[in-house]
Amino acid sequence: MNMESAMSKEEDDKEATLSVSGPMPGAAAAPAPAVLPQDGSWAVQTRGLRFYYGPSLALKGIDIQIPRHQVTAFIGPSGCGKSTLLRCFNRMNDLIEHSRVEGEVLVDGENIYQPDIQMESLRKRVGMVFQKSNPFPMSIFENLTFGPRMRGIRDRSQLDQIVEQALKRADLWREVKDRLKDSALQLSGGQQQRLCIARTLANEPEIVLMDEPASALDPISTGKIEETIHELKRDYTIIIVTHNMQQAARCSDLTAFFYLGDLIECDRTERIFSGPSRKETEDYVTGKFG
Ligand code: ADP
Repeated sequence: MNMESAMSKEEDDKEATLSVSGPMPGAAAAPAPAVLPQDGSWAVQTRGLRFYYGPSLALKGIDIQIPRHQVTAFIGPSGCGKSTLLRCFNRMNDLIEHSRVEGEVLVDGENIYQPDIQMESLRKRVGMVFQKSNPFPMSIFENLTFGPRMRGIRDRSQLDQIVEQALKRADLWREVKDRLKDSALQLSGGQQQRLCIARTLANEPEIVLMDEPASALDPISTGKIEETIHELKRDYTIIIVTHNMQQAARCSDLTAFFYLGDLIECDRTERIFSGPSRKETEDYVTGKFG
């Protein structure tokens, strides 16, 4: 289903749709699965997105719509383009030499690859948490106030409030509220990753991209990150890349399955794991390959 027909279906249908048209070589177009959003607007949408690393085509024409205030998980075997796609959503790939983008990425309906886009504002709106936690070598407090200070916020009580709120949202406040002046590097690995989530939230993003945020963590820390992700969707749109299918099943509302640079299928997570439309998806989620 293309974008136009998706939108007209949405008008007809109170349950709006999440349409997907990732081409699969040698296969018929994927049937359009039904998902939302209620208000008909997408947080992120791509149209015919192709991404090249030099001559190598990593994304082969992706059309996906990501609804607001939901957790969308990207799954698929290593090297199928999940991180590349995620990084297109805030133009993190721009720094890669000889890379090239074709097609469109719309954030809140605005094409972020148009030349006059304000990169600072884009990166504020679309925050990112990386696989490996990367706290700055400074205090917990300074880590959290770094972004707000860069945006010109100097008022101490306002900064205190931002710090407390971000740490509470990342479920770290109780653990660090009495040691905000300690170095962030003294925190455990799991705490450092939650600090990085809090630091992203302190910039007041609308969308939070997470690239395997828990893959380097122990099961207890992973559980805490997953709980945090679940809570965050009330206020943010979350897109998470994960190699861990149980994690996708536990903490996402929607799951998109990628293979060799194509989007094969995107649907409600329970459907992807219990009765996907595509055989390739079923083979992957049942462990037949990957
Ligand atoms: P995934 O996140 O699904 O593991 P990636 O998006 O990291 O996949 O990679 C998709 C493809 O792009 C792979 O073939 C990978 O080798 C290639 N790739 C990723 N990053 C780079 C890079 N910086 N330079 C060249 N090729 C890259």
